[in-house]
Amino acid sequence: MTGQSVVIIGAGVVGAALADELSARGWTDVTVVDQGDVPATGGSSSHAPGLVFQINGSKTMTEMARYTVEKFVELDSFLQVGGLEVATTPERLAELRRRQGWAASWGVEARLLSPEECVAMHSLLDRDKVLGGLYIPTDGLAKAVKAVDAQLSRARERGVRVLPRHEVLDVRTEGGRVAAVVTGQGEIPADIVVCCAGIWGPRVARMVGMELPLTPLAHQLAWTGQVPDLAGQTVEASRPILRHQDADLYYRERFDTLGIGYYGHRPMPISSDDILSVDAAEVMPSVLTFTPDDFAGAWSETQSLLPSTRSAKVEEGINGLFSFTTDHLPLMGQSREVEGFWVAEAVWVTHSAGVGRAMAEWLVDGHCTSFDLHECDVNRFEPHQIAPDYVLARGCQNYVEVYDIIHPLQPMEHPRPLRTSPFHPRQQELGALFLEASGWERPQWYGANEPLLRGREIPAPGDWAARYWSPIVGAEAQATRESVAMYDMTALKRLEVSGPGAVAFLQRLTTGDVDKSVGSVTYCLLLDTDGGIRSDVTVARLGPQHFQVGANGNLDLDWLDRHRPADVYLRDITPGTCCVGVWGPKARELVQPLTTADLTALRYFRGTRAYIGNVPVTMLRLSYVGELGWEIYTTADLGLKLWDTLWGAGRDRLPGGVIAAGRGAFTSLRLEKGYRSFGTDMTFEHDPYEAGLGFAVKLDKGDFIGRDALLARKESVTRRLSCLLTDEVVMGREPVYDGDRAVGHVTSAAYGHTIGKAIAYAWLPASLATPGQTVHIGYFDRRVKAVVAEEPLFDPAMTRLRG
Ligand SMILES: Cc1cc2nc3c(=O)[nH]c(=O)nc-3n(C[C@H](O)[C@H](O)[C@H](O)COP(=O)(O)OP(=O)(O)OC[C@H]3O[C@@H](n4cnc5c(N)ncnc54)[C@H](O)[C@@H]3O)c2cc1C
Repeated sequence: MTGQSVVIIGAGVVGAALADELSARGWTDVTVVDQGDVPATGGSSSHAPGLVFQINGSKTMTEMARYTVEKFVELDSFLQVGGLEVATTPERLAELRRRQGWAASWGVEARLLSPEECVAMHSLLDRDKVLGGLYIPTDGLAKAVKAVDAQLSRARERGVRVLPRHEVLDVRTEGGRVAAVVTGQGEIPADIVVCCAGIWGPRVARMVGMELPLTPLAHQLAWTGQVPDLAGQTVEASRPILRHQDADLYYRERFDTLGIGYYGHRPMPISSDDILSVDAAEVMPSVLTFTPDDFAGAWSETQSLLPSTRSAKVEEGINGLFSFTTDHLPLMGQSREVEGFWVAEAVWVTHSAGVGRAMAEWLVDGHCTSFDLHECDVNRFEPHQIAPDYVLARGCQNYVEVYDIIHPLQPMEHPRPLRTSPFHPRQQELGALFLEASGWERPQWYGANEPLLRGREIPAPGDWAARYWSPIVGAEAQATRESVAMYDMTALKRLEVSGPGAVAFLQRLTTGDVDKSVGSVTYCLLLDTDGGIRSDVTVARLGPQHFQVGANGNLDLDWLDRHRPADVYLRDITPGTCCVGVWGPKARELVQPLTTADLTALRYFRGTRAYIGNVPVTMLRLSYVGELGWEIYTTADLGLKLWDTLWGAGRDRLPGGVIAAGRGAFTSLRLEKGYRSFGTDMTFEHDPYEAGLGFAVKLDKGDFIGRDALLARKESVTRRLSCLLTDEVVMGREPVYDGDRAVGHVTSAAYGHTIGKAIAYAWLPASLATPGQTVHIGYFDRRVKAVVAEEPLFDPAMTRLRG
């Protein structure tokens, strides 16, 4: 087997990894082309100092880094000197504890060190400046060019062709799919083209009409002359690589000198069209002239932290170019515009081998089994997120924030506001605190609800969980259970699926039986062929051939579109519509007088078209908060009228009125009911049985994508998403310990304001996922007791939903 014919554009560390991984899987009809010489092509890999710090808030990124380390060690392209991140502020010390938690969650060894231990590990450090450190023994220095060479050599031995000095000028397509790559030396036919062109990615992607949301930015890297305390060092590096994130700095040794990388300077973006050619560039295309003024802060901070550098000099430096994205994550996957055109872009050396492996599995097997790629898929973006202004603004901001301490709820500040629901003016009047979701301004709570606090005891969470929080969140949650509240659900993705083939299509794509009467609503899942969960959706049948799918994001649109036959129409109706959730025991009292629909006859998980006052609506009797009520949809133009009609009726007729409630209350209520959130609680790597969603799978309805794989997975559940009651509110991603052993990690967490207890959901080994089992959550410097609980925690008989 030689597989399909593949052309990889770019022989950097990513293209080389992909060639190696593809050929290892038997795909040897592979050609790697590069405009430069190989292995030092002049791209970013050619000058990267190669520091590999594995720990990342993302499980996927950490796992890709770990794989890269293992592979580079095997290829003799890695100096495993360890990695040390130091804190010079109390906030950073706390952050290092959080990072240690991530390490434990994702299975990488990491130790917190005292200042003395830091100095013992890295003797250049000034003891008095350092409050502590995080040490990762398996981190170290990647030899990027050597790794390129080693991976390409292995690939060549298996039959892969490597063509240096072949600039790709165009990608030829035929009938909507790639046909060939056009180089200065002629055409190379291809079934699949993979763009691994790094900072040139946008230029290459544009050859097939694809907009790649990537910004090349210059990053300063300087080298000192001899540092006195390193004099006589004959090995390249003996101390751990070092990060001083409080000052946006990192360091590595090179014999008796130091390399210093700096993220503290002004963002210096460049268009991929303006990068010089290999022959025109003075040093190499990805290297711009060093700008010493931008480095001044870095040097004085270095001399302060590492006193021995005070008698050294900065002798050389570069402004080196590499890729930034709008969300810090890579861009992987197939273009929606042209079949067969794939990208593996915005990848650090740190993750390169992992990305190569993921891409190879995806191409050869049709999906990636080693890593969950939902955060990395290039099709994850909303349309506004690929607008050039957005891409540039976010790329620059992410450069500035590379080492910042970012709270999980912290919204981007700029560019905002982008998407506002029709309810926005009223929400502003009610003093909403807005966070951001897929560009939408989404209220977290409303200042106008402060009077609700009277007579309520809302416990305050600890420092970290108390950010982007107000006691009003608790009051709104309680008021929802007592009376009725309006939730802006506009940010939820809504897709319209219609046409003669719609029923058969949704039967094939989802795990549920959606071939039910008009008015039915089905909660079900989209699965990958390996049985992994791609999304959870609600499918409402609004007509014989007409469905509304409540989805999670753009990847759902992409997935459905890729499988869509010609007799099915698919439309993203999110931007042109809006949704308000009206939920609470008094919901019927509020809404019934406004509508001709008989809301008592409308049962749970049924929907209808109706009018609310003057507004035509679709009402679905569903609730993520576990209370009586409806998701009420209308077109964007009538959204404000819908809000005002409901609000006015509440004010006039209901004792106590209706309140608006925000996402903070929603999350608390959702967790009390045990409702999972895709992307947080479960992802591509989990199957429905592990995630407690087996009820959404109708194995007996006939074939559907993922069914065969599920039959096997059903019998082999080794881990479970479990409900925990905890002694303190945590945030998510923390490790869960059984004794001293990290055995799982937290997904979602919040205080349950009805049950009066803190809740966390966590992945646990199946053997520990039994009610009553005690475990502990690693939360900063504490171990928080947690007990597995029967779920749901609130209203297990569903009397409130069905009432
Ligand atoms: C100063 C600096 C320090 C860094 N430090 C680190 C670090 O410590 N750790 C870390 O993990 N990462 C680091 N990085 C980032 C890292 O270097 C890059 O993210 C990584 O090397 C990108 O690899 P790549 O294969 O995607 O891109 P590249 O190495 O740039 O490869 C892309 C290739 O595509 C080729 N190409 C482009 N267009 C065409 C065309 N039209 N036809 C033919 N060939 C084409 C180019 O010639 C190039 O060889 C650093 C980057 C810089 C600039």
